[in-house]
Amino acid sequence: MEDLKARVCAVIDDLACEFIETSHRIHETPELMFKEFKSAKMLEALLAKHGMTVESGIAGMPTAFKAWATTGARGTCGAPGTPSTRTCGTPGMPSTSAAPGPTIAILGEYDALPGVGHACGHNIIGTSAAAAGIALVKALGDVPATIAVFGCPAEEGGGGKIIMVREGWFKGVDAAMMTHPLPGESMIGGPNLATTSFVVKYYGKAAHAAASPHDGINALDAIMIAFTAISYLRQQVTEDVRMHGFVAQGGEASNIIPEYAEARYLVRAEKRATVDKIAERVRRCFEAGALATGARLEITEGMQYSERVVNHTLAGLLRDNMRALGIQVKDEIEKVRGSTDFGEVSQVVPAVNAYLSIAPETVASHSHEMAEASKSPVGDKGLLDAAKAMAMTAVDLICDPALLRKAYDEFESTMIRKK
Ligand SMILES: [Zn+2]
Ligand SMILES: [Zn+2]
Repeated sequence: MEDLKARVCAVIDDLACEFIETSHRIHETPELMFKEFKSAKMLEALLAKHGMTVESGIAGMPTAFKAWATTGARGTCGAPGTPSTRTCGTPGMPSTSAAPGPTIAILGEYDALPGVGHACGHNIIGTSAAAAGIALVKALGDVPATIAVFGCPAEEGGGGKIIMVREGWFKGVDAAMMTHPLPGESMIGGPNLATTSFVVKYYGKAAHAAASPHDGINALDAIMIAFTAISYLRQQVTEDVRMHGFVAQGGEASNIIPEYAEARYLVRAEKRATVDKIAERVRRCFEAGALATGARLEITEGMQYSERVVNHTLAGLLRDNMRALGIQVKDEIEKVRGSTDFGEVSQVVPAVNAYLSIAPETVASHSHEMAEASKSPVGDKGLLDAAKAMAMTAVDLICDPALLRKAYDEFESTMIRKK
């Protein structure tokens, strides 16, 4: 196993220039969610060049892909063309003995942010996932396994992974992992927040604000009433609940009663069930605004993100491998107060998500400084380290079926407890 770990690391070092160049090219071509056409193509070309079969445009998303290869004894599992139809490795039965071995999924992202480009370092995430997959396929040789690299669009608000889970692309996967760059100390991502979002529109009636206010229906007032009601609701919720939003449109001029107003709102909590309950009450607050003012209300509820399920077995392996590479990693599995669509993946397969430091903690995520760090020498090293740590963790799982079994048993018992 240690030989194999050394081999995957050597492959990553040999191809380091190519990986870093790809990461920088993605960085120089920042593309927003669902429009990551060039970035996805760069990664697909890299994976195909190194012998992986690429299926583009999966799950109905043109910028999503799956690249895969089977090593060792060849079987019928993991065939391309459709969401995995393999019968081995289905949940409840990790494919620990059947050829072609377990299926390990490594997830990459490559969407950028408006205005600040790759200020979340997704150029590193996408390239490190590809690098880990390539290293495993080259190093495993006769060791049977299926390595799948998933290209996941639209992490910054579009929920690409949620769509992929819904479409069945993680069926047959035995374990999934990814890493995310961050400012501050490296850590294993623990529980985060489930979330749901609202776009709220009120339609009122314009009128002269001084001459005939009585003829108007004030759409902005409806938002103010709703926000006030939500502020009162905030007193009656558990500590983990977060409710936050803003007025996206609130009128045109101070002498016109606003006839249209629009708000965006997010509700988050540690459990999806809590989010669902609170979302219903927030909805009633918005209805209160409409009732009080007479404005017509339209609510559109957005993508629902589930909380991340922590798999301590996988977390321990990934943390040990990061430490073996000389990375300082916090002992604790850290609570993260944000939300990610990786949560959805962790609800259907054993999964782990690590955060690798590429900048001091004084740098803010989603800032211009973080965008700089994502193409800096420290960022480049983070890319290679992330790829090595994930590939080494995959080696642990592929070579020691008992570890995979343990990860699966933990996943199963956690999910039973949640029900
Ligand atoms: Zn991110
Ligand atoms: Zn981000």
